[in-house]
Amino acid sequence: MLTFFGRGSAFSDQQNSAYFEDNNDLILIDCPMDSFDILKKWDLTKYKHIYILVTHTHGDHISGIGMLVDLLYFLVHIPVTIVAPCEEVRKDLKYMLSRLEGCNDFWYELISCEELKKTWFNCSIPTDHSPELKGRCYGYNLKIQGNNVVYTGDTNTTAPYEKYLADGTYLYIEISAHRSNVHLYYEDLIPKLKEYLAKGVKVYLMHMDDEKKVLDKVSDIDVKPAPLVHEVVLGDNSTILNSILDITDSLYKDMCMNGSDDHNLLFTYLTDLAKTIVDADRASFWKWDKRKRQIWTMSATGVDKLVISDRTGLVGKALKYQKTIITNDPYNDPDFNHEIDIKTGYKTKSVMVLPVADINGNFIGALQLINKKSDRGFDEGDIKKLSLAALICGIALESETFLEDSHHDKLTGLKNRMGFYYDFGGKYKDYLIPDSGKVMSVFIGDIDKFKRVNDTYGHNAGDDVLRFASELLESACGDNDGLYRWGGEEFVMVMRDTDLDGAVKKAEAMRLKLMDSDIDADGTIIRCTMSFGCALFDPTKTIEENISAADERLYTAKETGRNKVCWE
Ligand code: GH3
Ligand code: MG
Ligand code: MG
Repeated sequence: MLTFFGRGSAFSDQQNSAYFEDNNDLILIDCPMDSFDILKKWDLTKYKHIYILVTHTHGDHISGIGMLVDLLYFLVHIPVTIVAPCEEVRKDLKYMLSRLEGCNDFWYELISCEELKKTWFNCSIPTDHSPELKGRCYGYNLKIQGNNVVYTGDTNTTAPYEKYLADGTYLYIEISAHRSNVHLYYEDLIPKLKEYLAKGVKVYLMHMDDEKKVLDKVSDIDVKPAPLVHEVVLGDNSTILNSILDITDSLYKDMCMNGSDDHNLLFTYLTDLAKTIVDADRASFWKWDKRKRQIWTMSATGVDKLVISDRTGLVGKALKYQKTIITNDPYNDPDFNHEIDIKTGYKTKSVMVLPVADINGNFIGALQLINKKSDRGFDEGDIKKLSLAALICGIALESETFLEDSHHDKLTGLKNRMGFYYDFGGKYKDYLIPDSGKVMSVFIGDIDKFKRVNDTYGHNAGDDVLRFASELLESACGDNDGLYRWGGEEFVMVMRDTDLDGAVKKAEAMRLKLMDSDIDADGTIIRCTMSFGCALFDPTKTIEENISAADERLYTAKETGRNKVCWE
């Protein structure tokens, strides 16, 4: 609930004071110079308003207020409201701010608790501390994220707070290792703490004048020292850092050391990394196909693979306007596509999209993060955190695109000879092992008298015929088959778990279908035929020898009249 800049007394290293955040506001409880020293290094511009709740006017609680007011007035330009429960304290503060710090009245607002109308504020709790400050010392009862919170401030009595303690209350209570009449002495306090714990109160200790001594004394009861800001930041960061290092370690091992041939793993890891860095619930990585005007997920955590038009959704918007997008209220963003939520029952609360570019700075994809786990939503800081991951994603996507392009033929979209050899290193690998019991067949098909098409109707007509033939062959391609443009007007099909007979049947079916097809060749309707040579793949021979076997049969088909399938 509360995070402490310090949890010690006046003469300790860290003077007692705490803070919490509410939406875009920062609320400080007291502000000694130690707190100011930390706060001045923060990016305070992210807050809309700063509130300071004052407990009493001892210097180890308020000495940083003047400096903070100065800083906010001169450099940061955020309104600050100082809340002090009683008139006398407000008068003292006003005096201090004008005489000691030279602050003008209009640099800050100074109000009573009654004037402070905030959902996180319940009431101040008058208490007793040093006799000099009689009637001028307060604790606070707050409601932070729906939780009841009691902050005692400096006190020598527990009585005023007890009525605010209930099951689940967060109690931040001062404790002293020295017997005095101004603080709560630990030996007297321990039975009380046990009583509170039995009630279900969560107890945090603060304002400790001898932390070691106090914590040793309470080691056998379930109370904790108030959490310090650098512990919280370090704690969170070290968990996140360790997760990041775990992911990068696996990424390196899988991509470099374990010889994984699944380069899509890279995107899975990078997406997971991005999700971890900003602590989001889901992440997805999108590739932009500018030709098809589509975007599709290369990798997504928590969602299935999607293909959508590049004119829809927040990813489409980020790519269109070439800028990062943050929305913490997606349902009120006209570009947000909530159909996926409707379909899956998932509730999107916050979205961040970073377009990613290739090495020339052209946008080629996007990284999308959904639902920041903390309720605050995404902010500019998250974009900063993801900048390196987004850059690497862009470069990775570009090299993936190069690889894909080099394996595909531009005219027909089919895989080319490089793609063919790549697949033999991957999905056909098991079929290359002799005596494995696995069967595979190939055919090579060549358009008959294709040169004549070019010569008669022109090269564009020839291209149309090639596209038509490739689509026809592709339509017959099952999950176990692979089709390749072998060169010119020659196509190779590799059929896993298919014997020679099966390959011949398939080739024959396609021969007949092509023969009967009217082809629009650059405006003229023409007909074409194709010849095929089929072979059963022999794993004791090389890939080239196998293709040659099919090619010899194709030659026979050509020699014996064309428009036929040969397998002997
Ligand atoms: P055959 O029945 O013996 O196979 O005769 P063919 O005319 O089909 O064979 P040939 O090898 O003599 O000619 C193939 C032609 O294919 C020659 C070449 O210009 C053409 N070709 C190769 N690639 C392309 C292409 O991408 N587009 C077009 N339009 N033509 C191509
Ligand atoms: Mg030909
Ligand atoms: Mg040829």
